[in-house]
Amino acid sequence: IKILAIETSCDETSISVVENGRKILSNIIYSQIDIHKTFGGVVPEVASRKHIETIDGVLEESLKEAKTGLEEIDAVAVTYGPGLVGALLVGINFAKALSYAINKPLIGVNHIEGHICANLISNKDLEPPFLTLVVSGGHTHLVVVKEYGEYEVVGKTRDDAAGEAYDKVARSLGLGYPGGPLIDKISTEGDRESIDFPRIMLEKDSFDFSFSGLKSAVLNYQNRMAMKKMDYRVEDVAASFQEAVVDVLVKKTIEAAKKYKIEKVTMAGGVASNSRLREVMEKASKERGFDFSYPPGILCTDNGAMIGCAAYYKYLKNEFSESTLNAYPNLKIDRC
Ligand code: ATP
Ligand code: MG
Ligand code: FE
Repeated sequence: IKILAIETSCDETSISVVENGRKILSNIIYSQIDIHKTFGGVVPEVASRKHIETIDGVLEESLKEAKTGLEEIDAVAVTYGPGLVGALLVGINFAKALSYAINKPLIGVNHIEGHICANLISNKDLEPPFLTLVVSGGHTHLVVVKEYGEYEVVGKTRDDAAGEAYDKVARSLGLGYPGGPLIDKISTEGDRESIDFPRIMLEKDSFDFSFSGLKSAVLNYQNRMAMKKMDYRVEDVAASFQEAVVDVLVKKTIEAAKKYKIEKVTMAGGVASNSRLREVMEKASKERGFDFSYPPGILCTDNGAMIGCAAYYKYLKNEFSESTLNAYPNLKIDRC
């Protein structure tokens, strides 16, 4: 089964051909980061326009790399939420037209389900049940994958997402956009124990997260130092901030794995590329004998392959979408 999968929920135009869910034949990603960089964040209107301009070329390149003709495609998958409504609609309309033209079913996929499924591509032996820490630009969720396509959210952020916290702190440190990779990089030059930023764990037994207090603590620290006319090393602030984020993410993930008796731990979303998070989660998992794996960077960021993988398990269950499929900017993972 070959699925052509389209992802345009934010600022990446990506089209992929995936065979039997877990084999990538092509995964073309056109990122708009360089365009949005100048604005310090994604500008929705600009993103939609750019998707329209590039999507034809991305399709052509994707089929070429997959050495696959449209007549060999068995279904067309597309992200229908969550994401930016205008950006989503570009992909959805493109997918509808294509599915109609080649007379093959359309499969709408939840973007976060896609992020989770990236783990199935990178770890061929992975089978549910497993636990995933979803850490992306807009989401921080602890999800139990009970079965293919069956998700239970056991915890989530009550305010900022992890990636959002990284991006906001990076901005206040004057590092640029997107902040996650930049904080990751300069943190290697910093002392992660230099500043004791708060670890917000919330109620005992809660798997929810809160990062806005940590973000404020970093801003307060900067303001305090400025008022006292004292210098500080940006590297140290970045490393200490990162350590606080990683500490909370790892502790909650490990506790959730214990509580739900799941010995397979995975990660998904842009922040899953973070080197310190990978390192600390790896160590904590090993200590408890958990099987830990995560996707390579290219599958952590937004991409079509993860959408094609999620779509394959829907295909097997005949879960197809109507040609009236719409965009759902706030689509939830437990309702996909
Ligand atoms: P969502 O998936 O929630 O809709 P999104 O698609 O915008 O949001 P992703 O593309 O999954 O999010 O991830 C982007 C986020 O990941 C950004 O906030 C970025 O700063 C962060 N990020 C990327 N690489 C790293 C890294 N190495 N360390 C920390 N954060 C990172
Ligand atoms: Mg992006
Ligand atoms: Fe994403």
